[in-house]
Amino acid sequence: MDNIRAKKGFIIDMDGVIYHGNYLLPGVLEFVNWLKQENKEFLFLTNSSERSPKELQQKLERLGIEVDEHHFHTSAIATASFLASQTPGGSVYVIGEAGLTNALYDAGFSMNDVNPDYVVVGDTRSYSFEKIEHAVRLVLKGAKLIGTNPDLTGPTERGIVPATKALIAPIELATGRQAYFIGKPNPLMMRHALKKLKTQSDETAIIGDRMDTDIIAGIESEIETVLVLSGVSSRDTVKRFPYRPDYILDGVGDIVPGYSNK
Ligand SMILES: [Mg+2]
Repeated sequence: MDNIRAKKGFIIDMDGVIYHGNYLLPGVLEFVNWLKQENKEFLFLTNSSERSPKELQQKLERLGIEVDEHHFHTSAIATASFLASQTPGGSVYVIGEAGLTNALYDAGFSMNDVNPDYVVVGDTRSYSFEKIEHAVRLVLKGAKLIGTNPDLTGPTERGIVPATKALIAPIELATGRQAYFIGKPNPLMMRHALKKLKTQSDETAIIGDRMDTDIIAGIESEIETVLVLSGVSSRDTVKRFPYRPDYILDGVGDIVPGYSNK
């Protein structure tokens, strides 16, 4: 544990680590206070492409956690910056929420539903047959198919909801094209995070609740990994994977010296 406490930078997943829906997990307030007191560099990194950093900051504020907007990074922003490096000033047709369209506008993209360079799909609740049909036609005409994150489902208080990989599947099946996904475990997300933190991989730890996104992302980027059991994984889940995290904790509170949840 001293190894983890000594790290300079922390990459922190949100769902299942910080909150569950609109419920703040135990020990999070203590952990964030500790990060601030110890002058750690930290970045909340989420695969969800629905919300903007500002909206995530406001969500945490409502839950009683005060952190600046620059501490957030999403798969929507990573997607926008990747596409801007590939096709500067390009155009996109988007199936997604404001968090995604705003990130694409900010990266210099314009919206185009006639002959876009890309069809970009992200987490959304406004999803329709009409949009799928249109996206299929654009991809067949030559638009490249991009998914913000490879999650099949996402957690809500009401249970799971379909996420980007499930939403993009009909377009892949109908066109016979495979989408390229940007979010975790794509190492692009980790490189962006380290650049934002300005820390080296060996000075940084990633904390997450999923073996198949957070932990594998850390392993493949040689960043020390902490699995917390406050989200989707249990000790049994860990046994099903051919790799293991460096640390397994009940929650982020366990990183704070003297913290007790009893
Ligand atoms: Mg999570």
